[in-house]
Amino acid sequence: MYDGHVGAVGSAAAAAVSAYPSYSEHHTGWPIDIGDGGGACSFEPCFADQPAATWASANAHRFGFVIRYPAGAEADTGYSFEPWHLRYVGVDAATEIHDQGITLEEFTTRHSPN
Ligand SMILES: [Zn+2]
Repeated sequence: MYDGHVGAVGSAAAAAVSAYPSYSEHHTGWPIDIGDGGGACSFEPCFADQPAATWASANAHRFGFVIRYPAGAEADTGYSFEPWHLRYVGVDAATEIHDQGITLEEFTTRHSPN
C-alpha cells in the first residue's frame, strides 16, 4: 500500500496518508478501521459523512475508542484525516479526548509526568 502511494504522489505526501511498512499503528493491535456496509467512501475523507462515521464520531468514546487522526490535526498526528481509523485508548482517556476535542498526542502531553 505504501509503495502504491509513493508511486502515485511521492514519498513526502505518501507519509501523510500511509505508514511505512511495519510502522503502521495497526501493528500494535489497538486500532480498527471501520466502514459502511455499502462501502461508500471507504478509506476516503468523505467517509466522515457516512452514517457509520457520524455514529463513531459521536459514540466511539463510550466504548474506549477515538478517531485517531482527526481533521485539522495533521501537524500534530502526522497523518491526514482518517475518519475510519479508530484506536482503543480506554473509556476515560477516550471521553476526555472526545469531550475536549484534542488529539491522542495532546492527551499524552497533558498526562505526561514530565
Ligand atoms: Zn487504520
